[in-house]
Amino acid sequence: MVEIRFLAHVDREKCVSCPLCENVCPTAAVTLPAKGAKAEVVDEKCVACPNCSGVCPVDAITLVPREVPLRLGLDATEEEEPAIVALCQKAHLHPQQWLCLCTATRVREGAAAVLRGATTPEEVALATGTRSGCTVYCLQPTLRLLKAHGVKVVQPEGYRWYDTSQTCWDVPEAVVRKYPGHFLEEDLAVFRKA
Ligand code: SF4
Ligand code: SF4
Repeated sequence: MVEIRFLAHVDREKCVSCPLCENVCPTAAVTLPAKGAKAEVVDEKCVACPNCSGVCPVDAITLVPREVPLRLGLDATEEEEPAIVALCQKAHLHPQQWLCLCTATRVREGAAAVLRGATTPEEVALATGTRSGCTVYCLQPTLRLLKAHGVKVVQPEGYRWYDTSQTCWDVPEAVVRKYPGHFLEEDLAVFRKA
């Protein structure tokens, strides 16, 4: 469970509609409703990361205390354990490994969010509380869980996130066999045991 005590606030007088904040928000909380419009924040989506205030060229965004903290998170034990384990295995992740170090969220919680219907990294973040810290580390396992569940993830415009990087699981079998000096078969055998 994560408690969010701050909230992004846009000074509309200062905002020049650039729209850098929209491009870096991990939960799509800050958006420009139309081209040339002023940035707006959806309070219940803001996880106070605070990417937007850091990138705003005119210092139009500040983080202000929330009147009532926003609590995000879920209880993964409410989901069927075999379903969580199966999804994690398909994503080549261990249910107990960290999904998000900043919020101490395990992969099993991300898996539970996906099994409950989250279809984007933003929805996983709002279900689990992840992406409220560095906004970087948790993205890769989140994308892997979504893809393993069959979700077609579409990269948004801007810099909100990058797609998954390659791991040994993504190397074609023919390439693994062709380059035995890289010991990928041995690596995969070790990971399969884990
Ligand atoms: S989640 Fe981060 S980037 Fe998005 S509005 Fe809140 S502070 Fe800004
Ligand atoms: S980054 Fe600053 S100036 Fe640009 S749209 Fe967002 S609030 Fe407005």
